[in-house]
Amino acid sequence: MTYLLNSPDDFADEAVHGLVASHPELLAEVPGGVARATQTPQGQPALVIGGGSGHYPAFAGWVGPGMGHGAPCGNIFSSPSASEVYSVVRNAENGGGVILGFGNYAGDVLHFGLAAEKLRHEGIDVRIVTVSDDIASNEPENHRDRRGVAGDLPVFKIAGAAIETGADLDEAERVAWKANDATRSFGLAFDGCTLPGAEGPLFHVEKGQMGVGLGIHGEPGVRDDRLGTAAEVADLLFDQLMTEEPERGEHGYDGRVAVILNGLGTVKYEELFVVYGRIAQRLEEKGLTAVRPEVGEFVTSLDMAGLSLTLVFLDEELEKLWMAPVETPAYRRGAMPDVERPARKSIWDAAEAEIPQSSEDSRACAQRIVSVLETFQTVCAENEAELGRLDAVAGDGDHGQGMAFGSRGAAQAARAAAEQGAGARTTLLLAGQAWADSAGGTSGALWGAALTSAGGVFSDTDKGNDHNVVDAVSAGIDAIMRLGGAKPGDKTMVDAAVPFRDALADAFGAEAGPAITTAAGVARDAADKTADITARLGRARVLGDKSVGTPDPGALSFSMLMAALGEHLSR
Ligand code: ADP
Ligand code: MG
Repeated sequence: MTYLLNSPDDFADEAVHGLVASHPELLAEVPGGVARATQTPQGQPALVIGGGSGHYPAFAGWVGPGMGHGAPCGNIFSSPSASEVYSVVRNAENGGGVILGFGNYAGDVLHFGLAAEKLRHEGIDVRIVTVSDDIASNEPENHRDRRGVAGDLPVFKIAGAAIETGADLDEAERVAWKANDATRSFGLAFDGCTLPGAEGPLFHVEKGQMGVGLGIHGEPGVRDDRLGTAAEVADLLFDQLMTEEPERGEHGYDGRVAVILNGLGTVKYEELFVVYGRIAQRLEEKGLTAVRPEVGEFVTSLDMAGLSLTLVFLDEELEKLWMAPVETPAYRRGAMPDVERPARKSIWDAAEAEIPQSSEDSRACAQRIVSVLETFQTVCAENEAELGRLDAVAGDGDHGQGMAFGSRGAAQAARAAAEQGAGARTTLLLAGQAWADSAGGTSGALWGAALTSAGGVFSDTDKGNDHNVVDAVSAGIDAIMRLGGAKPGDKTMVDAAVPFRDALADAFGAEAGPAITTAAGVARDAADKTADITARLGRARVLGDKSVGTPDPGALSFSMLMAALGEHLSR
């Protein structure tokens, strides 16, 4: 239960505000989250870590020297938007590139990934590190596909220490992945957590039982078991993790482990210490040395009653970085070297960002982009009900609405940008961001990424030509595939986009319009054919078999918009 709040909707924002107010020497509130209150050295890579709120001290509590440079803060248990991530990076990055670190969850992958697309188009070197320590969520051979839980702490701590001690971006990224590959966690819950303002918890565990292998967003355990004594709980966690202990003497690992016993919300510190006492005994029996063990709350899940154990199998390099000093609101160790840390000079705010200079030619191209997006808006509005109906068969029924909101937001943003004198590139970049922000949902982020990448093909100074149009469309499709990770046959818009791209390459001679029209016909046939296959990705996956006989809504909307684009350009 959350007893104290002003309004459920404002809870996450107000918590960030109060956190910053209580740590003004370390944190600054920036649009979308928090960043360091101090200026970081020019050329130092930035570590921007995040995810939803509801997990404090993760993630905003870990911003400061030796750890994070900024943290976008999403709503409770939901990923920050791409715009929030982008904004925090603009406030945290100082010429050395950025590592985006977050737990491996579909929503975070999509929104951080979209922000990365935009940042890369602006010349910022972006690396993505997804933490995946939860052994309950996938097989050992798929370690990097697991979800992230309390392993966020050691991975970000170690990467932050590497940066503080002079690592460049390549080096910091290497160390972060190395830490993730050495980290394993396993957790238990005795009862579920309640969202602020909600009537009851997201799930219950029967009295006397425990959910084994829980998630940190109210996902219940993978199985229920009898709740035993503290020692039995300690043994269960420890034994599970030890099944993945690497060979001693190999790769520099020789039985030295960082140990984190993490309370998820309502387990008391004394209870944790009782459990840790047993874990310390088990470590000793196995001949393992605990290196600076941590017992307390690190990655919480609101008021979840539960705990998790994390082991990091250390080598010399990881141990040194794990032990390095750190100074953040929620995690402090050792004494930071006494270096000058001047206060930050400014805060970047999208609302005040200037539109880059443009040429008249590029502004004319931007006008055409606005009218294409207005056409998209019309087509989406006309087909909203039908696309929603198709999505409802095996998905959640919101595809029509997502496309309608997204295209409307994009057209509005493009119009506003063009009115302020933006060139083609800037107009499309802003439209892409607006599409994702307005639509929500998977397809919204993917269309946002497509427009953003298409924008990268244009410039704000040159006159666009037909080759640019074709390249932009291809770049957009590449972005959809990069970000969504779908392959042909998964029953997604990729099933229409890939044949479209191939047909376009064949059909294009000198004029983009007719070639796109031809390719859109191929895309439409391909979209119709998706009726024959089972959905394997996205929300529709759960009800995959029900989707047989119905075409994929995202593939269909893709072919509709490409048909509209071809027709528009041929006019
Ligand atoms: P959500 O699935 O979040 O409700 P929408 O309903 O707006 O989003 O969009 C659903 C469409 O998104 C699907 O029909 C499919 O075409 C597309 N889609 C979902 N996941 C992926 C993915 N990983 N890659 C490409 N397209 C995807
Ligand atoms: Mg949907």
